[in-house]
Amino acid sequence: MKVAFPHMGNAYIPLRALVEYLGVEAVVPERPNRVTLEKGARYAPEFVCLPFKITLGDCMNALDRGADTMAMVCGMWACRFGYYAYVQHLILRDMGYEFESLLIGREDPRLVLDKVRSAVGRGAFRKLAGAAAMFRAKAGAVEELESLARRIRPREEAMGSTDTIMTSYLEKLDRADSLRRIWQLRREQREAITSLPVRESNGMLRVRVVGELYVLLEPSLNFDLVKRLGTHFGVEAQPVLSTYRWLLSPLWLDPLLHLSSSRARRISRTYLPYILGGEEHMTITGTLDSQADGFDGVIHAYPLTCMPENICRTILPSICTARDIPLLNLCFDEHTSTVGTITRLEAFVDMLRSRREQDPSLTRLSPPL
Ligand code: SF4
Repeated sequence: MKVAFPHMGNAYIPLRALVEYLGVEAVVPERPNRVTLEKGARYAPEFVCLPFKITLGDCMNALDRGADTMAMVCGMWACRFGYYAYVQHLILRDMGYEFESLLIGREDPRLVLDKVRSAVGRGAFRKLAGAAAMFRAKAGAVEELESLARRIRPREEAMGSTDTIMTSYLEKLDRADSLRRIWQLRREQREAITSLPVRESNGMLRVRVVGELYVLLEPSLNFDLVKRLGTHFGVEAQPVLSTYRWLLSPLWLDPLLHLSSSRARRISRTYLPYILGGEEHMTITGTLDSQADGFDGVIHAYPLTCMPENICRTILPSICTARDIPLLNLCFDEHTSTVGTITRLEAFVDMLRSRREQDPSLTRLSPPL
């Protein structure tokens, strides 16, 4: 069995650990890029949402590299995501690819377990427990590294120094083969990043990024929004979602994630009393909380035909007008250009700066590092 799964940010690190700890080969193709998106867009239905297109291209890359089993979660979402795996696998088979589908979710869990047991052999349950521990440890280490990098990047004295450390530790974490090694790397990465020389950062602009999960977390789709804001604009950008959250929430491995999700549903109920299947409650609550959390503005990033986020798109302007929160909507599809996105970011950051110049009370002290 050679298992592949679609990329999303740095999720491949814990996912690879999970699969390989079970003794199964994981096929991880190169990180998605514009070519992957064009490849997927060529075979995907025209009006399907953008993550479908890029993950389809990603699946093609994995199958071209020899994967014989495609794993994908499915069926639990009210939006199109629940159907991604079924439709993508149909398209891939129509194209002539031959592979096994490992659909996790709507398929009878016993079928998934049977497949895992036949691939893993004896001691499958013991190995599953060990694999889950490695998965959680790596997901936690990646989360910590990403969140430190988001804080330090806009303050770094030498441009790019945070990303050099981050790339090196992501590679080390990907190769780590024991829990002890992961904990050691966590300590080292914390020390390495926090000891970088930083500039005085009191009063630094901070923006919250809300929106659809895949667009928020996959740099190839959002033109590396968070990194670009930090490195080129000196703005700290904090997404409301993270890879860690996406990976651990469905497995109930971190109860705090469920508490924050139910809080989000409760707070946004006035604006949206339904579950649409995406990240709509986090989008609305993230916007409502943004001023209290010390952010100067909100960026809403979403794919062109995303159902839940297009509904949020109609709700956010009234919230932001009523509370005087600057809002930038960034809608992405395969035709979105880098230059167009950068120009809009530049204009938004300029506007936030001039708001502060006109009203110095808007300048807040940055939270301590
Ligand atoms: S949340 Fe939006 S973009 Fe993501 S799968 Fe659902 S409809 Fe598509």
